[in-house]
Amino acid sequence: MSKVENLTKIRDRIIIKSFPELMDYDIQVEYNDLKDALLEYGELSEEGFYIEVDTSLENAPEKVIEGGMAHELSHILTDKKESKNLTFRDKLAYKLSEKYRTLDERNTDLLVIIRGFGNQLLTFLKYAEEKGFPHYKEDGLSIREIEALLSKAI
Ligand SMILES: [Zn+2]
Repeated sequence: MSKVENLTKIRDRIIIKSFPELMDYDIQVEYNDLKDALLEYGELSEEGFYIEVDTSLENAPEKVIEGGMAHELSHILTDKKESKNLTFRDKLAYKLSEKYRTLDERNTDLLVIIRGFGNQLLTFLKYAEEKGFPHYKEDGLSIREIEALLSKAI
């Protein structure tokens, strides 16, 4: 199986299990050389999105990729739900306001946990930390916060 086929398989598994609302959307996945992120997502057209995964994750354990991809799918789901009221102003606020971005990223991580991929998200964050990627508070929940949330969920 090629690496992209493997990404596609991971994407489908997460969507079927936890993000069924996204089943009808066209979400392209691919590896790319990302400059300052491990994963990124964006909108292609009306019904299309893409998720790019940094080539440094090509040999990472599948659970790591799952955690990162669940986070991006959570963003996409929120964007889809809010697309009717997501204005240019919101997009600008995300870019310019650290407070807005922090809130958005934390909500994204909470949704990942609610949808059952908290463990994978934790694995992803630990992997990123191990590899020396800095984690800022505007990036979402911290490892410690997720651990606390997961232990309460059990
Ligand atoms: Zn994010």
